[in-house]
Amino acid sequence: MDQVLLSVSYIIASILFIMSLRGLSGQETAQRGNLNGVIGMAIAVGATALSPSVHAYALLVGVLVIGAGIGAVMASRVQMTAMPELVALLHSFVGAAAVLVGFASYLGGAEHGSRTIMLVELHIDVLIGAITFTGSIIAFLKLRGTVSGKPLLLPGRHLFNAAMALACIGLGWPFLAAPGTEGLMPLLIMAGVAGVLGAHLVLAIGGADMPVVVSLLNSYSGWTAAAAGFMLSNDLLIITGALVGSSGAILSYIMCKAMNRSIWNVIFGGFGGDQPKATGPAAVPAGEVREIGMDDAVAELAKAREVVIVPGYGMAVARAQHAVKDLMEQLKGRGARVRFAIHPVAGRLPGHMNVLLAEAAIPYDIVLEMEDINDDLPKTDVVLVIGANDIVNPSAETDASSPIYGMPVLQVWNSKLVVISKRSRGAGYAGVDNPLFYKENSRMLLGDARKTMEEVVTKLKQHGR
Ligand code: NDP
Repeated sequence: MDQVLLSVSYIIASILFIMSLRGLSGQETAQRGNLNGVIGMAIAVGATALSPSVHAYALLVGVLVIGAGIGAVMASRVQMTAMPELVALLHSFVGAAAVLVGFASYLGGAEHGSRTIMLVELHIDVLIGAITFTGSIIAFLKLRGTVSGKPLLLPGRHLFNAAMALACIGLGWPFLAAPGTEGLMPLLIMAGVAGVLGAHLVLAIGGADMPVVVSLLNSYSGWTAAAAGFMLSNDLLIITGALVGSSGAILSYIMCKAMNRSIWNVIFGGFGGDQPKATGPAAVPAGEVREIGMDDAVAELAKAREVVIVPGYGMAVARAQHAVKDLMEQLKGRGARVRFAIHPVAGRLPGHMNVLLAEAAIPYDIVLEMEDINDDLPKTDVVLVIGANDIVNPSAETDASSPIYGMPVLQVWNSKLVVISKRSRGAGYAGVDNPLFYKENSRMLLGDARKTMEEVVTKLKQHGR
């Protein structure tokens, strides 16, 4: 393939990647977006394989077949709840690839343009690659539960991080000054120090905050690829890396904003360690909780005309989404208008609830974002909160001492009746008490979300009109 055709292929692949990102930003267009990404990647790999610089076809085909085979098996077997760890593992591959390509380019004597500029690009590529590699491995192990989710808060950890970052930059001087490939030792030491820095940054982050870290590592992996693109003079890699890097950074920023956190806190590590956090029954209840029996809950739902369902982390844990879909159909069949209200940080990873509802084939047009539904809640007969807690906590608006103060929440208490399906009076991720439970119009329907929803559906079917 000649250079012009290669450039044209790269431009087409880049456009497809941009269209892919555009498509992935909406549920209705996500599948098409995914397809555009797949086609773009096929063109990119195909064009690169046919480019004049590739000769070792037997080796290339061999590794492609093995890699694609392993990837296909992993992706088809992965459980929805294990998705964040798979993503973390894939990010570590990008980091490892960047480090290996960096060393290979250095030892292979690859040069284009100025040697100094090329070495600076190589140094940056190995630096971000090593941070991404070890950081992602630790993220993967934490998400799997192999490494404790508790943040590792070493005394003077910020100083330690700063010293390692300075050492990485400082090692650039002997590396740049060395002739030929004699700078291998400073490059190796720098890669080692950057690896420790990446691992330490992620070890300092609380386990439940990992999804934010995953989106941040996603961003780092993009910048690594972009740095490799500069080093290899590969425009497609630069464009793709920049797309991944900037979209990951924007996602991290959006999530921090939705959680009312500072992005700097996350970037410099230790996020999640500054405030006491807990799951389970950490908070001391400060009021009387009114329970509702199954029959009464069914009777309220049966007569409701406007119903809003608020899913949260507990729905994911209970895998209740299919029972929730059956419930939606039952209620619709009775003439009620049913809509879903999605909080931006509901669950434990960005878009968690949207993915689960889509998996259960719940129509997108009744799944609304928080800002689009909050104003409709006062006109709602029943809000059914399923395994959600922090995202419906009114103290985020009223209690300045609360760790979630300032986080925008779903104002479910404005509706006529709130039915909360959860197993106990325990707190959510933030470990704070939820005054919603003590409101005049709140009722708690105790039990596992899936079992509860299945029972509600069965009883609704038997309930007269
Ligand atoms: P929460 O963690 O606040 O609450 C979930 C509730 O689900 C718990 O109170 C628990 O109560 C209940 N629950 C657990 N298992 C079950 C079950 N089997 N059946 C029924 N209920 C169950 O979740 P939210 O979605 O409301 O809020 C998300 C929180 O996570 C926010 O604080 C957010 O900041 C944080 N977060 C979100 C991230 C994201 O990307 N989305 C990333 C990092 C953090 P009980 O034990 O009584 O059943």
